[in-house]
Amino acid sequence: MPRRKKSHIAQDAGTPVDPDQIALWLNRNPDSPSARRLTALIREVMDGISARQTRPKELPRKILVINRRLRTYSATPALLVPRDLSEPLRATWLPTIGEGNDEPFAYGEFQFVLGVLRLAREDRLGRLRRCRHDEQWFFARLKRQVFCSQHCQQAHFRQTPTFKKYHADQMRSWRKLKKSDF
Ligand SMILES: [Zn+2]
Repeated sequence: MPRRKKSHIAQDAGTPVDPDQIALWLNRNPDSPSARRLTALIREVMDGISARQTRPKELPRKILVINRRLRTYSATPALLVPRDLSEPLRATWLPTIGEGNDEPFAYGEFQFVLGVLRLAREDRLGRLRRCRHDEQWFFARLKRQVFCSQHCQQAHFRQTPTFKKYHADQMRSWRKLKKSDF
């Protein structure tokens, strides 16, 4: 067994959030104030990323906007009470209701804010997107993926003019065939 470094306080503060969880949370109640705030943050960070690539002079102003939003979140470092007293102590950040905050925010929202910033740092935030068919949030496994599921992909295809024409042609020839039977 490898010798483990002896530590009384676990190094990581909080577990990284699974991007699928962020999508699930946004879909559960997309019109709630907390989901709207997170959606706005995602949009602003993506805007900052694209400014950095194409209009670098605009970046400082974009960062100001993002930071103004982030300031509404505040947290304090805290130790978690271990379930098993022999476990090492774990440090984390606990959200507090900041001054000037109109509404209290849930622990979930705070975790997801950290998750969004982490995705941006890892250059993966662009993969957290809305389905082109039903607008549900999803985390794209493939770079070019624009639908949340195969079901949406097929449903979307059925709406395209090419498919509608193809379908109408099929129906026409089928009716013709049926008539000729008599
Ligand atoms: Zn979809």
